[in-house]
Amino acid sequence: MSFTSSTQQLCGLSLDVAELYGKPHIGAHYEGKSVKSHKKDDDSTCLICSKTVQSVHHVPPLSKGHEFTLKTPNGVFELRPSLFALCGSGTTGCHNDFHGGARFVPEWVWYTDADAEAWWNGEILQRFKPHSTMLYAFGFWRIHDRKTGKYFEVNRV
Ligand SMILES: [Zn+2]
Ligand SMILES: [Zn+2]
Repeated sequence: MSFTSSTQQLCGLSLDVAELYGKPHIGAHYEGKSVKSHKKDDDSTCLICSKTVQSVHHVPPLSKGHEFTLKTPNGVFELRPSLFALCGSGTTGCHNDFHGGARFVPEWVWYTDADAEAWWNGEILQRFKPHSTMLYAFGFWRIHDRKTGKYFEVNRV
Protein backbone atom coordinates (compact mmCIF):
# COMPACT_ATOMS: atom_id res chain seq x y z
CA MET A 1 0.00 0.00 0.00
CA SER A 2 1.42 3.36 -0.96
CA PHE A 3 -1.16 5.71 0.53
CA THR A 4 0.26 8.28 2.92
CA SER A 5 -1.73 10.76 4.94
CA SER A 6 -0.58 14.35 5.27
CA THR A 7 1.66 15.16 8.25
CA GLN A 8 -0.82 17.85 9.21
CA GLN A 9 -3.61 15.31 9.60
CA LEU A 10 -1.54 13.04 11.83
CA CYS A 11 -1.14 15.54 14.70
CA GLY A 12 2.32 14.22 15.55
CA LEU A 13 1.44 10.53 15.45
CA SER A 14 2.91 8.05 12.99
CA LEU A 15 0.47 6.88 10.32
CA ASP A 16 0.63 3.32 11.71
CA VAL A 17 -0.53 4.50 15.13
CA ALA A 18 -3.10 7.05 13.89
CA GLU A 19 -4.58 4.35 11.69
CA LEU A 20 -5.50 2.24 14.75
CA TYR A 21 -8.18 4.66 16.04
CA GLY A 22 -11.85 4.17 15.27
CA LYS A 23 -11.60 0.67 13.82
CA PRO A 24 -13.84 -2.31 14.72
CA HIS A 25 -13.54 -3.60 18.28
CA ILE A 26 -12.84 -7.27 18.83
CA GLY A 27 -14.91 -8.75 21.66
CA ALA A 28 -15.41 -5.46 23.52
CA HIS A 29 -17.18 -2.10 23.33
CA TYR A 30 -17.53 1.30 25.02
CA GLU A 31 -20.53 1.69 27.31
CA GLY A 32 -20.25 5.46 27.60
CA LYS A 33 -18.34 8.39 26.19
CA SER A 34 -15.25 7.90 28.32
CA VAL A 35 -12.38 5.83 26.95
CA LYS A 36 -12.43 4.17 30.38
CA SER A 37 -15.98 2.91 29.79
CA HIS A 38 -14.68 -0.14 27.94
CA LYS A 39 -16.42 -3.46 28.62
CA LYS A 40 -15.99 -6.92 27.23
CA ASP A 41 -18.82 -8.37 25.14
CA ASP A 42 -20.82 -11.04 26.95
CA ASP A 43 -19.77 -13.85 24.65
CA SER A 44 -16.17 -12.82 23.92
CA THR A 45 -13.05 -14.91 24.46
CA CYS A 46 -9.38 -13.86 24.35
CA LEU A 47 -8.47 -12.78 20.83
CA ILE A 48 -5.15 -14.60 21.06
CA CYS A 49 -5.71 -17.81 23.02
CA SER A 50 -9.53 -18.09 23.37
CA LYS A 51 -9.35 -18.29 27.18
CA THR A 52 -11.66 -16.31 29.46
CA VAL A 53 -11.49 -12.54 28.94
CA GLN A 54 -10.09 -10.70 31.97
CA SER A 55 -9.36 -7.26 30.54
CA VAL A 56 -9.67 -5.04 27.51
CA HIS A 57 -6.76 -3.51 25.62
CA HIS A 58 -6.90 -0.08 23.95
CA VAL A 59 -5.47 0.00 20.44
CA PRO A 60 -3.43 2.13 20.45
CA PRO A 61 -2.71 2.23 24.21
CA LEU A 62 -4.09 5.27 26.04
CA SER A 63 -0.53 6.53 26.46
CA LYS A 64 -0.64 7.49 22.76
CA GLY A 65 -3.66 9.70 23.35
CA HIS A 66 -7.24 9.14 24.49
CA GLU A 67 -8.61 10.53 21.27
CA PHE A 68 -7.54 11.25 17.75
CA THR A 69 -9.21 14.13 15.95
CA LEU A 70 -9.44 13.31 12.28
CA LYS A 71 -9.90 16.52 10.31
CA THR A 72 -11.06 15.92 6.76
CA PRO A 73 -12.65 17.86 3.89
CA ASN A 74 -15.86 15.98 4.75
CA GLY A 75 -15.98 16.67 8.46
CA VAL A 76 -14.15 16.40 11.75
CA PHE A 77 -14.32 13.05 13.51
CA GLU A 78 -13.32 12.34 17.11
CA LEU A 79 -11.91 8.84 17.14
CA ARG A 80 -11.27 6.68 20.18
CA PRO A 81 -8.92 3.71 20.43
CA SER A 82 -10.23 0.40 19.15
CA LEU A 83 -10.70 -2.32 21.81
CA PHE A 84 -9.46 -5.91 21.99
CA ALA A 85 -10.73 -8.36 24.63
CA LEU A 86 -7.86 -10.39 26.10
CA CYS A 87 -6.93 -12.71 28.95
CA GLY A 88 -4.67 -11.43 31.73
CA SER A 89 -4.03 -7.83 32.73
CA GLY A 90 -1.70 -5.12 31.45
CA THR A 91 1.14 -7.10 33.04
CA THR A 92 0.02 -10.72 32.68
CA GLY A 93 -1.36 -13.11 30.04
CA CYS A 94 -2.00 -12.14 26.45
CA HIS A 95 -2.76 -8.55 27.46
CA ASN A 96 0.83 -8.19 28.68
CA ASP A 97 2.01 -9.45 25.30
CA PHE A 98 0.59 -6.23 23.81
CA HIS A 99 2.38 -4.09 26.43
CA GLY A 100 5.67 -4.89 28.19
CA GLY A 101 5.91 -8.20 26.38
CA ALA A 102 5.58 -6.33 23.07
CA ARG A 103 5.01 -9.64 21.36
CA PHE A 104 1.83 -8.78 19.49
CA VAL A 105 1.64 -5.71 17.26
CA PRO A 106 -1.70 -4.83 15.69
CA GLU A 107 -1.94 -3.23 12.28
CA TRP A 108 -5.01 -1.99 10.40
CA VAL A 109 -4.67 -2.87 6.71
CA TRP A 110 -6.80 -1.34 3.94
CA TYR A 111 -7.61 -3.54 0.98
CA THR A 112 -6.75 -0.78 -1.48
CA ASP A 113 -5.28 2.71 -1.57
CA ALA A 114 -8.73 3.98 -2.53
CA ASP A 115 -10.10 2.57 0.76
CA ALA A 116 -7.37 4.30 2.75
CA GLU A 117 -8.05 7.58 0.98
CA ALA A 118 -11.79 7.23 1.61
CA TRP A 119 -11.05 6.95 5.35
CA TRP A 120 -8.59 9.80 5.51
CA ASN A 121 -10.78 12.16 3.47
CA GLY A 122 -13.82 11.37 5.64
CA GLU A 123 -15.96 9.61 3.03
CA ILE A 124 -16.19 6.31 4.92
CA LEU A 125 -16.94 8.08 8.21
CA GLN A 126 -19.77 10.00 6.56
CA ARG A 127 -21.44 6.65 5.89
CA PHE A 128 -20.43 4.56 8.89
CA LYS A 129 -19.78 5.29 12.54
CA PRO A 130 -16.32 4.74 14.02
CA HIS A 131 -15.83 1.10 15.10
CA SER A 132 -18.59 -0.09 12.75
CA THR A 133 -18.15 -3.67 11.64
CA MET A 134 -18.96 -2.34 8.15
CA LEU A 135 -15.35 -1.16 8.10
CA TYR A 136 -14.40 -4.77 7.42
CA ALA A 137 -15.66 -4.14 3.88
CA PHE A 138 -12.65 -1.88 3.39
CA GLY A 139 -9.91 -3.35 5.56
CA PHE A 140 -8.98 -5.79 8.30
CA TRP A 141 -6.85 -6.34 11.40
CA ARG A 142 -3.47 -8.01 11.04
CA ILE A 143 -1.88 -9.06 14.33
CA HIS A 144 1.87 -9.55 14.07
CA ASP A 145 3.55 -12.02 16.40
CA ARG A 146 7.10 -10.80 16.90
CA LYS A 147 8.04 -14.04 18.66
CA THR A 148 7.31 -16.28 15.69
CA GLY A 149 7.55 -13.69 12.90
CA LYS A 150 4.10 -14.77 11.74
CA TYR A 151 0.77 -12.96 11.78
CA PHE A 152 -2.92 -13.72 11.72
CA GLU A 153 -5.81 -11.69 10.41
CA VAL A 154 -9.25 -10.73 11.66
CA ASN A 155 -11.62 -9.53 8.98
CA ARG A 156 -14.99 -9.93 10.67
CA VAL A 157 -16.51 -10.38 14.10
ZN1 LIG B 1 -5.15 -15.06 25.97
ZN1 LIG C 1 -3.72 -2.69 27.23
